[in-house]
Parts: sequence; C-alpha cells; structure tokens
Amino acid sequence: MTDNQSFQTKSPTLYIVPTPIGNLDDITQRAIQVLAGVDLIAAEDTRHTGKLLSHFQIQTKTFALHDHNEQDKASFLVEKLLSGLSVALVSDAGTPLISDPGYHLVHQCRQAGVKVVPLPGACAVTTALCASGLPSDRFSFEGFLPAKTKARKDKLSDIATDERTCIFYESPHRILDTLDDMLVVLGPDRQVVLARELTKTFETIQSLPLGELVAWVKDDENQRKGEIVLLIHGFRRPKEADFPDDAKRMLTILVSELPLKRAAGVVAEMYALKKNALYKWGLEHLKSADH
Ligand code: SAM
Repeated sequence: MTDNQSFQTKSPTLYIVPTPIGNLDDITQRAIQVLAGVDLIAAEDTRHTGKLLSHFQIQTKTFALHDHNEQDKASFLVEKLLSGLSVALVSDAGTPLISDPGYHLVHQCRQAGVKVVPLPGACAVTTALCASGLPSDRFSFEGFLPAKTKARKDKLSDIATDERTCIFYESPHRILDTLDDMLVVLGPDRQVVLARELTKTFETIQSLPLGELVAWVKDDENQRKGEIVLLIHGFRRPKEADFPDDAKRMLTILVSELPLKRAAGVVAEMYALKKNALYKWGLEHLKSADH
C-alpha cells in the first residue's frame, strides 16, 4: 500500500528535490510536481537548472543559491518562506547537500521553524554503492579527497583501517594522482571499485585489486573521463593466525615489562589488530605472561 502524500502548496515549506545524475528519466513524478508547484526554485546554477526545467516544461522562477553566496542568501530565502512562499532546493545534479550547497539553508530553516520536506531521488553515492559488490551494510561517505597529495595521503591514512566500505567522489583530472596515492597508502591488494558515468551511455563499474585498477586506468584514457565515484573495500583485520610476526615479537618483548592486557592494547594499536584476539593469543602462547 502506498501513502500517497500529494503535493499541496502548504506554506511555509522548503522542499529538497533531487535531480537526475545523467539519465533524465530518473526524475521522479513527485519532483516534477513539486518543481512545477512551488513559488520559487533555489538552484546551484540557474542556467543549468533552466535546461532541466524547460525539458519538463516547468516555468517556476529560479533563484541562485551556490557555495559562494549561500550563507548570505539563505536568510533572504528563510524570510520568503516565513512570508508564505514555498521553495524547492535543487543542485546541478543528484541530491542537494551531498557534496553540494544547501546545508546552511536547511539549518536556518529548521532553526526558524520552517518545515523541510525531503524528496528521495538520484544520488551518485548510493547508485554506485548498490552496484559495487562491496559490503553495503556499513559505509562511510567522505566527499572529495583533498587536492594536494600530502593532505590526500593523510586523509587516506585516516581511513586505512576503517572496516566500512569507504566512498569518495573524484574528478577526472585528479583520478590518476588519487589512485597513485591510494596505492602507496592502502597497498596493491585492497579491492577498489571505480564507478564512472553512472546512468549515462558510457556507464562503467570496474572492481579490481588496487594495483590492477591503477594499471587499467593508466592503460585506457577513457577510464579517466567523465564523473567518477571511488569505493574502497573496508580494512579486513587479520585473523589471529595471520598476526604479523613483528606484532607477535613485540608482544613477547612487552609482556616482560607490562601486564599482558596492557601489552596487547599497545601492540593492537601499533598494528591495527584486535586487542582481544591478541590478548587471547598471548594467553595461549606466552607462558610467562602476567595474567
Ligand atoms: N549531489 C550529487 C549527488 O547526489 O551525487 C553530487 C554532486 S558533486 C558536486 C559531483 C560529483 O558526484 C562528481 O564529481 C562525481 O564524483 C559524482 N557524480 C555525480 N554524477 C555522477 C555520475 N553520473 N557518475 C559517477 N559519479 C557521479
């Protein structure tokens, strides 16, 4: 059964309206109704949105709300909403606020008691994730990586031992540098998915160990074109049997100075291992351990 919440110009309301990320057929019926029915559309780029609106023969007035003016213009829009106008927020593609403007406007609306109604719809993160073949029960979305290699490597180091699938947006002119940095920080065996041009003619979803993926992208310049999502398999903690020899040696040395629990904690931190599993290994293998 569907609960058909049809569009009515009950004001004041801010509607968050996703738009297609490539294929125009991905707009929803409800998005069209809302865009046609509101008093004003706040758009990241009014010319870009104008083309979408004319495709669907929508004549609603637009208003520019982008990264550079959002903080100032949000209060103007909140005033309009409080005076009784209904407003829809769109970005150039996909879901507003997801690596796109809108946060300040939504925040101010909620503070002013303006109703915010979100519409579900296209978003590159979830579109890529659901076809990636990577674990989807837990994931983190990190937006765009920093442009400079030092900051990018630092960020990658931060997520290197995160067990969740990690998702990034990337631009075509940085994809090779980013993949090279990933190779240094994450190693050649980490499974990575490159999802490119989703919902468009040249849609490509390639899943390979990082070393092979880098070679594949270097070999084929077409794989560096268009819009890209990168998805990284979460860190797989080594099982007890796979503890690195160095970690076992370190634990053996430390237990002569520290209680086993404390030593296991230190070594787990150093080698990104599970403390309890190391502790158990110590109990079984280090006869002299202080329990
Ligand atoms: N708000 C959008 C969303 O909901 O996905 C994202 C906007 S962000 C400024 C643009 C980035 O999203 C692109 O650089 C790319 O990383 C990703 N993206 C957008 N459309 C895509 C597509 N069709 N295929 C792959 N990635 C896409």
